[in-house]
Amino acid sequence: MSKRAPFVIANWKLNGGIDLTCTSVASMLNKQFEVKIGIAPPYVYIGDMVSFLRNSNIMVGSQNVSKFASGAYTGETSAQMLTEVGCQFCLIGHSERRQVFLENDHSCHTKLEKALANNLMPILCIGENLQQYELGLTNDILYRQLHQALPGLDLNGKELCIAYEPVWAIGTGKAASTEQVEAVHSFIYQELVEILGVEKANRVHVLYGGSVSKNNVAELLSTPHVNGVLVGGASLDPEHFSEICTIA
Ligand code: PEP
Repeated sequence: MSKRAPFVIANWKLNGGIDLTCTSVASMLNKQFEVKIGIAPPYVYIGDMVSFLRNSNIMVGSQNVSKFASGAYTGETSAQMLTEVGCQFCLIGHSERRQVFLENDHSCHTKLEKALANNLMPILCIGENLQQYELGLTNDILYRQLHQALPGLDLNGKELCIAYEPVWAIGTGKAASTEQVEAVHSFIYQELVEILGVEKANRVHVLYGGSVSKNNVAELLSTPHVNGVLVGGASLDPEHFSEICTIA
């Protein structure tokens, strides 16, 4: 796969507020970046962020999307609603959603369908936990997550991202080594070819996430089959996030 403009996506999780929304926007707006940037704040700040960033090419996204289209599903937000307020992408199946909210590969598949049908670029998060990693099960876990979530999706004319996020690297300050990332990303690419065919697989952006910072982003992005990064903790510091985007 050839190198394309990398994606740098911020996941604020359940952090930030209107202050961080304003300071982040201010620190991004007066700079030129070569990368495709996206920010996923908590739902309630999406509308403000979309309007603050309307004259930029920075994407705003959500951290989740409902598997339902509408109805009696208290607390849910549909893909159509997210598109309507200006979201361009959504995270699906983040490990915290899988662990804390018991999401599974089946619900990820339904969410992917809903996102794609509503022109939201999905970022499907996959990755093994520490125990699975130590048992050498990484490829088995990724195989299951990809093969259960992706087959049967209508990707014609749509963009799709996969974020490889080893759970043991999230928020720990211990990113996977570039050797590990290279091996896993080439496995993911191989599975994407099997599921989607070469042409569609070549269009998927495969991101790495897990303790990305200004210190390791350049090395990670120079690794084969890495087309971007998903940044959690470091994206909560606007200066740090903007340095990551500049380096990338
Ligand atoms: C994440 O949770 O998506 C993430 C990448 O977090 P961090 O960068 O803090 O490891």
